[in-house]
Amino acid sequence: MLEIDVLTIFPDLFVPFLGTAFVGSAQEQAAVRVGVHDLRGWAKDRHRSVDDSPYGGGPGMVMTPEPLIPAIESLAGAKGPDRVARVVYLSPQGEPLTQRKLHEMAAGPSILLVCGRYEGIDQRVLDLAVDEEISIGDFVVSGGEMPAMVLIEGLVRLLPGVLGNPESIETESFGGGDFLEGPQYTRPPIYRGLEVPEVLRSGNHAVIEQWRRDHALARTRERRPDLFDRAGGAVSSSPGTGRSAGNRKSPGQDSGKSGRGERVENDN
Ligand code: SAH
Repeated sequence: MLEIDVLTIFPDLFVPFLGTAFVGSAQEQAAVRVGVHDLRGWAKDRHRSVDDSPYGGGPGMVMTPEPLIPAIESLAGAKGPDRVARVVYLSPQGEPLTQRKLHEMAAGPSILLVCGRYEGIDQRVLDLAVDEEISIGDFVVSGGEMPAMVLIEGLVRLLPGVLGNPESIETESFGGGDFLEGPQYTRPPIYRGLEVPEVLRSGNHAVIEQWRRDHALARTRERRPDLFDRAGGAVSSSPGTGRSAGNRKSPGQDSGKSGRGERVENDN
Protein backbone atom coordinates (compact mmCIF):
# COMPACT_ATOMS: atom_id res chain seq x y z
CA MET A 1 0.00 0.00 0.00
CA LEU A 2 1.25 3.46 -0.92
CA GLU A 3 1.09 5.82 2.04
CA ILE A 4 0.71 9.52 1.34
CA ASP A 5 0.46 12.24 3.95
CA VAL A 6 -0.29 15.86 3.22
CA LEU A 7 0.61 18.88 5.33
CA THR A 8 -1.54 21.93 4.60
CA ILE A 9 -3.33 24.88 6.18
CA PHE A 10 -6.42 24.03 4.09
CA PRO A 11 -7.21 20.38 4.83
CA ASP A 12 -10.86 20.86 3.82
CA LEU A 13 -9.83 21.30 0.19
CA PHE A 14 -8.98 17.60 0.09
CA VAL A 15 -12.26 16.25 1.43
CA PRO A 16 -14.32 15.92 -1.77
CA PHE A 17 -11.26 14.95 -3.79
CA LEU A 18 -10.32 12.08 -1.51
CA GLY A 19 -13.87 10.78 -1.29
CA THR A 20 -14.65 10.78 -5.00
CA ALA A 21 -14.06 8.53 -7.99
CA PHE A 22 -11.05 6.26 -8.06
CA VAL A 23 -9.10 8.04 -5.34
CA GLY A 24 -11.98 7.20 -3.01
CA SER A 25 -12.30 3.61 -4.12
CA ALA A 26 -8.51 3.11 -4.10
CA GLN A 27 -8.57 3.92 -0.39
CA GLU A 28 -11.42 1.48 0.19
CA GLN A 29 -9.42 -1.18 -1.66
CA ALA A 30 -6.43 -0.31 0.54
CA ALA A 31 -4.25 0.44 -2.49
CA VAL A 32 -3.42 3.78 -0.93
CA ARG A 33 -3.81 5.60 2.36
CA VAL A 34 -3.96 9.38 2.24
CA GLY A 35 -3.76 11.30 5.52
CA VAL A 36 -4.32 15.05 5.56
CA HIS A 37 -2.87 17.08 8.42
CA ASP A 38 -3.61 20.65 9.43
CA LEU A 39 -0.33 22.49 9.89
CA ARG A 40 -1.96 24.80 12.43
CA GLY A 41 -2.25 21.83 14.75
CA TRP A 42 1.49 22.23 15.38
CA ALA A 43 1.34 26.01 15.94
CA LYS A 44 2.05 27.04 19.50
CA ASP A 45 0.87 30.63 19.73
CA ARG A 46 -2.61 31.87 20.45
CA HIS A 47 -3.30 32.81 16.82
CA ARG A 48 -1.90 29.52 15.53
CA SER A 49 0.19 31.51 13.06
CA VAL A 50 2.27 29.87 10.34
CA ASP A 51 3.71 32.89 8.48
CA ASP A 52 5.53 36.16 8.95
CA SER A 53 6.77 39.05 6.80
CA PRO A 54 9.90 38.50 4.71
CA TYR A 55 13.35 39.67 5.77
CA GLY A 56 14.59 42.27 3.33
CA GLY A 57 11.09 43.54 2.72
CA GLY A 58 8.77 42.90 -0.16
CA PRO A 59 5.16 41.89 -0.60
CA GLY A 60 3.30 39.11 1.14
CA MET A 61 4.17 36.66 3.83
CA VAL A 62 6.52 33.68 4.13
CA MET A 63 5.81 30.45 5.99
CA THR A 64 7.98 30.23 9.12
CA PRO A 65 10.29 27.34 10.12
CA GLU A 66 8.01 26.70 13.07
CA PRO A 67 5.56 25.05 13.03
CA LEU A 68 6.55 23.58 9.62
CA ILE A 69 9.71 21.75 10.62
CA PRO A 70 8.32 20.13 13.79
CA ALA A 71 5.22 19.09 11.80
CA ILE A 72 7.31 17.55 9.02
CA GLU A 73 9.54 15.78 11.52
CA SER A 74 6.63 14.36 13.47
CA LEU A 75 5.09 12.94 10.28
CA ALA A 76 8.23 11.81 8.44
CA GLY A 77 11.03 11.72 10.99
CA ALA A 78 14.16 13.83 10.94
CA LYS A 79 15.93 14.29 7.61
CA GLY A 80 18.47 11.53 7.08
CA PRO A 81 18.66 7.76 6.97
CA ASP A 82 15.95 7.16 9.57
CA ARG A 83 13.36 9.12 7.67
CA VAL A 84 10.10 7.18 7.23
CA ALA A 85 8.73 9.14 4.26
CA ARG A 86 10.08 11.03 1.29
CA VAL A 87 9.33 14.68 2.00
CA VAL A 88 8.24 16.56 -1.11
CA TYR A 89 7.58 20.29 -1.23
CA LEU A 90 5.30 21.31 -4.10
CA SER A 91 6.98 24.32 -5.67
CA PRO A 92 7.13 26.10 -9.02
CA GLN A 93 10.91 25.92 -8.55
CA GLY A 94 10.90 22.13 -8.30
CA GLU A 95 11.72 19.36 -10.74
CA PRO A 96 8.98 19.29 -13.38
CA LEU A 97 6.55 16.43 -12.81
CA THR A 98 6.56 13.76 -15.52
CA GLN A 99 4.91 10.40 -16.06
CA ARG A 100 8.28 8.79 -15.43
CA LYS A 101 8.50 10.51 -12.06
CA LEU A 102 5.01 9.29 -11.16
CA HIS A 103 5.98 5.70 -11.93
CA GLU A 104 9.05 6.03 -9.77
CA MET A 105 7.11 7.52 -6.85
CA ALA A 106 4.23 5.04 -7.11
CA ALA A 107 6.70 2.24 -6.37
CA GLY A 108 7.18 3.66 -2.86
CA PRO A 109 8.34 4.56 -0.23
CA SER A 110 5.80 6.64 1.68
CA ILE A 111 5.44 10.29 0.74
CA LEU A 112 4.81 13.45 2.73
CA LEU A 113 3.55 16.31 0.58
CA VAL A 114 4.16 19.79 1.95
CA CYS A 115 1.82 22.46 0.58
CA GLY A 116 3.07 26.03 0.60
CA ARG A 117 0.91 29.15 0.69
CA TYR A 118 1.58 32.90 0.61
CA GLU A 119 4.93 33.72 -1.01
CA GLY A 120 6.31 30.29 -0.19
CA ILE A 121 8.34 28.92 2.70
CA ASP A 122 11.50 29.90 4.58
CA GLN A 123 14.61 28.49 2.88
CA ARG A 124 15.70 26.78 6.10
CA VAL A 125 12.69 24.49 5.93
CA LEU A 126 13.96 23.30 2.55
CA ASP A 127 17.50 22.96 3.87
CA LEU A 128 16.61 21.15 7.07
CA ALA A 129 13.50 19.15 6.39
CA VAL A 130 12.61 18.72 2.69
CA ASP A 131 14.05 15.96 0.48
CA GLU A 132 12.89 17.19 -2.90
CA GLU A 133 10.80 19.80 -4.69
CA ILE A 134 8.34 19.03 -7.45
CA SER A 135 6.63 21.47 -9.82
CA ILE A 136 3.46 20.78 -11.80
CA GLY A 137 4.45 23.26 -14.51
CA ASP A 138 5.92 26.62 -15.37
CA PHE A 139 3.20 28.72 -13.85
CA VAL A 140 2.25 29.78 -10.34
CA VAL A 141 -0.89 28.93 -8.38
CA SER A 142 -1.64 30.23 -4.91
CA GLY A 143 -0.96 27.12 -2.92
CA GLY A 144 0.48 23.62 -3.01
CA GLU A 145 -2.89 21.95 -2.46
CA MET A 146 -3.97 21.67 -6.12
CA PRO A 147 -0.48 20.58 -7.18
CA ALA A 148 -0.57 17.94 -4.41
CA MET A 149 -3.91 16.67 -5.74
CA VAL A 150 -2.49 16.52 -9.25
CA LEU A 151 0.35 14.42 -7.93
CA ILE A 152 -1.92 12.16 -5.86
CA GLU A 153 -4.31 11.56 -8.75
CA GLY A 154 -1.42 10.76 -11.07
CA LEU A 155 0.02 8.33 -8.53
CA VAL A 156 -3.16 6.58 -7.49
CA ARG A 157 -4.17 5.61 -11.02
CA LEU A 158 -0.86 3.78 -11.40
CA LEU A 159 -1.41 1.58 -8.36
CA PRO A 160 -2.26 -2.06 -9.10
CA GLY A 161 -5.98 -2.75 -9.23
CA VAL A 162 -7.10 0.88 -9.19
CA LEU A 163 -7.95 1.48 -12.85
CA GLY A 164 -10.62 -0.75 -14.31
CA ASN A 165 -8.44 -1.46 -17.30
CA PRO A 166 -4.70 -1.32 -16.59
CA GLU A 167 -4.01 -1.51 -20.31
CA SER A 168 -5.10 2.09 -20.63
CA ILE A 169 -1.98 3.12 -18.73
CA GLU A 170 0.18 1.64 -21.45
CA THR A 171 -1.67 3.00 -24.45
CA GLU A 172 -2.42 6.52 -23.27
CA SER A 173 -0.22 9.55 -23.75
CA PHE A 174 3.22 9.00 -22.17
CA GLY A 175 2.17 5.43 -21.41
CA GLY A 176 3.96 2.76 -23.42
CA GLY A 177 6.59 5.12 -24.72
CA ASP A 178 6.97 8.83 -24.93
CA PHE A 179 4.12 9.48 -27.29
CA LEU A 180 0.81 11.22 -27.18
CA GLU A 181 -2.20 9.05 -27.76
CA GLY A 182 -3.87 9.45 -31.15
CA PRO A 183 -7.49 10.41 -31.82
CA GLN A 184 -10.22 8.36 -30.16
CA TYR A 185 -13.84 7.79 -31.13
CA THR A 186 -16.96 6.30 -29.68
CA ARG A 187 -20.55 6.06 -30.90
CA PRO A 188 -22.27 7.35 -32.97
CA PRO A 189 -20.44 6.34 -36.18
CA ILE A 190 -21.36 9.62 -37.89
CA TYR A 191 -21.86 12.85 -35.99
CA ARG A 192 -22.63 16.16 -37.70
CA GLY A 193 -21.13 14.82 -40.85
CA LEU A 194 -17.92 13.60 -39.24
CA GLU A 195 -17.38 9.90 -39.64
CA VAL A 196 -15.35 7.57 -37.44
CA PRO A 197 -12.44 6.35 -39.59
CA GLU A 198 -13.41 3.17 -41.40
CA VAL A 199 -10.41 1.26 -40.17
CA LEU A 200 -11.48 1.55 -36.51
CA ARG A 201 -14.76 -0.14 -37.36
CA SER A 202 -13.14 -2.86 -39.44
CA GLY A 203 -12.58 -5.31 -36.59
CA ASN A 204 -9.11 -6.02 -37.98
CA HIS A 205 -6.96 -5.69 -34.88
CA ALA A 206 -3.61 -5.65 -36.63
CA VAL A 207 -4.71 -2.85 -38.94
CA ILE A 208 -6.29 -0.94 -36.07
CA GLU A 209 -3.11 -1.27 -34.05
CA GLN A 210 -1.05 0.08 -36.95
CA TRP A 211 -3.47 2.96 -37.50
CA ARG A 212 -3.28 3.93 -33.85
CA ARG A 213 0.48 3.77 -33.79
CA ASP A 214 0.78 5.83 -36.96
CA HIS A 215 -1.56 8.49 -35.65
CA ALA A 216 0.10 8.58 -32.24
CA LEU A 217 3.42 9.20 -33.97
CA ALA A 218 2.00 11.83 -36.30
CA ARG A 219 0.26 13.66 -33.50
CA THR A 220 3.37 13.60 -31.33
CA ARG A 221 5.50 14.88 -34.19
CA GLU A 222 3.10 17.72 -34.87
CA ARG A 223 2.28 18.80 -31.33
CA ARG A 224 5.37 17.82 -29.39
CA PRO A 225 8.39 17.62 -31.67
CA ASP A 226 10.53 17.66 -28.50
CA LEU A 227 9.05 14.33 -27.37
CA PHE A 228 9.19 12.91 -30.85
CA ASP A 229 12.87 13.68 -31.28
CA ARG A 230 13.77 12.44 -27.83
CA ALA A 231 12.01 9.13 -28.41
CA GLY A 232 13.64 8.73 -31.82
CA GLY A 233 17.04 9.39 -30.29
CA ALA A 234 16.37 6.90 -27.49
CA VAL A 235 15.70 4.14 -29.98
CA SER A 236 18.57 4.75 -32.33
CA SER A 237 20.93 4.60 -29.36
CA SER A 238 19.49 1.30 -28.12
CA PRO A 239 18.63 -0.90 -31.07
CA GLY A 240 16.86 -4.17 -30.49
CA THR A 241 15.18 -3.17 -27.27
CA GLY A 242 11.81 -3.71 -28.86
CA ARG A 243 10.82 -0.08 -28.56
CA SER A 244 9.27 1.15 -31.72
CA ALA A 245 9.83 4.82 -31.20
CA GLY A 246 12.42 5.17 -33.90
CA ASN A 247 10.09 4.32 -36.70
CA ARG A 248 9.68 7.64 -38.38
CA LYS A 249 7.50 6.21 -41.10
CA SER A 250 4.29 7.95 -40.13
CA PRO A 251 1.26 9.08 -42.05
CA GLY A 252 2.21 12.60 -43.01
CA GLN A 253 1.14 15.42 -40.77
CA ASP A 254 -1.48 14.82 -38.17
CA SER A 255 -3.83 16.97 -40.18
CA GLY A 256 -6.70 18.25 -38.11
CA LYS A 257 -8.68 15.95 -40.35
CA SER A 258 -7.69 12.79 -38.58
CA GLY A 259 -8.11 14.48 -35.22
CA ARG A 260 -11.57 15.74 -35.91
CA GLY A 261 -12.95 12.82 -37.82
CA GLU A 262 -13.32 12.55 -41.53
CA ARG A 263 -16.02 14.48 -43.26
CA VAL A 264 -18.52 12.44 -45.16
CA GLU A 265 -19.28 14.30 -48.37
CA ASN A 266 -22.59 12.65 -49.03
CA ASP A 267 -24.03 13.03 -45.56
CA ASN A 268 -26.94 15.43 -45.51
N1 SAH B 1 6.90 32.99 -4.43
C1 SAH B 1 6.99 31.61 -4.82
C2 SAH B 1 5.64 31.08 -5.27
C3 SAH B 1 4.65 30.94 -4.17
S1 SAH B 1 3.13 30.29 -4.72
C4 SAH B 1 7.99 31.47 -5.97
O1 SAH B 1 8.18 32.43 -6.69
O2 SAH B 1 8.55 30.39 -6.15
C5 SAH B 1 2.52 29.59 -3.23
C6 SAH B 1 2.64 28.10 -3.11
O3 SAH B 1 1.94 27.47 -4.16
C7 SAH B 1 4.04 27.56 -3.18
O4 SAH B 1 4.64 27.58 -1.92
C8 SAH B 1 3.85 26.16 -3.72
O5 SAH B 1 3.62 25.24 -2.64
C9 SAH B 1 2.57 26.27 -4.53
N2 SAH B 1 2.79 26.29 -5.99
C10 SAH B 1 2.59 27.36 -6.80
N3 SAH B 1 2.85 27.05 -8.08
C11 SAH B 1 3.22 25.77 -8.11
C12 SAH B 1 3.65 24.88 -9.14
N4 SAH B 1 3.73 25.26 -10.41
N5 SAH B 1 3.96 23.61 -8.80
C13 SAH B 1 3.88 23.20 -7.52
N6 SAH B 1 3.51 24.00 -6.49
C14 SAH B 1 3.19 25.27 -6.78
